[in-house]
Amino acid sequence: MPLLAYALQRMAHFVGAGNLVGISWLSGIALVGFVGRGACQYGQDALMAKASLRVVLALRQHVFRHVQTLDLDYFALSRTGDLSYRLTEDLDRVGEVVHKFFHQTVPDVLVLVAVLGYMLYLNAPLTAATLAIAPLVGLAIGWFGERLLTSSRRSQDRIADLASLLTESLGGIQTVKAFAAENYEASRFGTFARLNYEARFRSEHVKSVQYPVVGFLYALSVIIVFWLGGWQISAGHLTGSEFVGFIAGVALLIDPIVQLTDNFNHIRQTQASLDRVFVLLDRHPQVQSHPQADILPVIQGKVEFEGVTFSYPSGATALQHVDLQVAPGEAIALVGASGAGKSTVVKLLPRFYDPQAGRILIDGIDIRSVTLPSLRRQIGIVPQETVLFSGTIAQNIAYGQFEFDLAEVEHAAKIANAHDFICALPDGYQSSVGERGVNLSGGQRQRLAIARAVMLDPKILVLDEATSALDAESEALVQEALDRLMQGRTVFAIAHRLATVRNVDRIVVLEQGTIVEMGSHSELLACQGRYAEYHAKQFMR
Ligand code: ADP
Repeated sequence: MPLLAYALQRMAHFVGAGNLVGISWLSGIALVGFVGRGACQYGQDALMAKASLRVVLALRQHVFRHVQTLDLDYFALSRTGDLSYRLTEDLDRVGEVVHKFFHQTVPDVLVLVAVLGYMLYLNAPLTAATLAIAPLVGLAIGWFGERLLTSSRRSQDRIADLASLLTESLGGIQTVKAFAAENYEASRFGTFARLNYEARFRSEHVKSVQYPVVGFLYALSVIIVFWLGGWQISAGHLTGSEFVGFIAGVALLIDPIVQLTDNFNHIRQTQASLDRVFVLLDRHPQVQSHPQADILPVIQGKVEFEGVTFSYPSGATALQHVDLQVAPGEAIALVGASGAGKSTVVKLLPRFYDPQAGRILIDGIDIRSVTLPSLRRQIGIVPQETVLFSGTIAQNIAYGQFEFDLAEVEHAAKIANAHDFICALPDGYQSSVGERGVNLSGGQRQRLAIARAVMLDPKILVLDEATSALDAESEALVQEALDRLMQGRTVFAIAHRLATVRNVDRIVVLEQGTIVEMGSHSELLACQGRYAEYHAKQFMR
């Protein structure tokens, strides 16, 4: 850049002197220089784009892995839309700034330093006059930068609100339509969209005030330079062409300074996004593998709860002094009113939460002393609602495995009474399911969940009975599949409707987080206690 200023000064001199040879030489050199600059620029652009995109890629993968380790409660309290916004848009913004920083900020600073050096060499007093305004400019940029950060934080939060609302209302579109609540949702959306608009406008407004203020300060310094330059020329300290060279330097400063200001604004705005991502990284899960944790060896399936007391982080006490021994291969059913603590018992087994007091042993080993994956891989869960991921039926049955044997998948599906309906689908095991896939009935989805558990072949099985009733035929198929799945495994069945109770060895009755009765179906009926009451209520309906 100083070279350009120097060249302009020489050119002015040649033009003034009518030196055509000099003009031609200089033009030729300039042309070659510009072609070289273009080539370098291409190399730099491509390289910088790659570097910044790689930063985003690495950060995104890291953040996603980290988010997956967070406790279940964190997900219960966070909104999916907000989380996905942090992992997509917020991270993209960070990438843009990294790109800008290396692509523009660093070269701009280098140009600035070089041009200033050249100007100092040309005329130190004039350069000092140009720079006199710099602290004021710095202060103004800093002050506006703070405002921009605050307004950007608000703006990013509002956009994330909007993303959350979208996920929520489009995810629940069936309910929206069923309640004819389209106008209600549109109005909620409108309110959020307006808040987003206002926050964005505040951000842009800060910039639109900043640019004229800073621009005025630049103009002031240029006026000072002209005034001082004129004075130096009239005093004979400076020639006209030297002044042109100096002014060319000043002109060369404008571009990098404007861009630096702009980039500084951009960095401030992006800091809000970066903060939102780092808040996630600063969170650490309560439940994690101990650094010296061992791998849980292949288990027999003996489970012991010893004086287990547990409250949810939100404060609700869910279990109090629960003592329970389950032998390998034994099937127990957990029975009790809604909120009695049935689900909590089975959530503690795979360490979704750790109890505050007492301990849980599997084959005599405290589950807190083993690694989480080795524990969780030996516990199969057939949940109330089967979650299918986008992909094929086969991939869903072999969920979590990168490579699998299709014959094994088919075998699992046969045990789960799912093979026949899968074969009747247009693409069989390769049919797509998930959000945009084939529609499956509740019973079919459950049988897929059972096939999934068969594939895992766990020694401990958790069955969360579906609360919604299936039709008789479907129920019989599911029950038959469950009976096969339960064989040879330790089973914890949460019986919401007492339908599963028939097939278990022992029934555990819970009330307000404590075990109040335990025994076989006939024993419990005979003792005429809580279980007998539940039983009578269900079958009287
Ligand atoms: P059940 O499965 O028998 O219906 P739960 O084990 O789900 O009962 O719940 C036991 C108690 O813990 C209830 O009082 C319930 O409100 C509370 N609870 C359940 N899950 C949570 C949670 N994620 N956060 C806070 N409290 C919870």
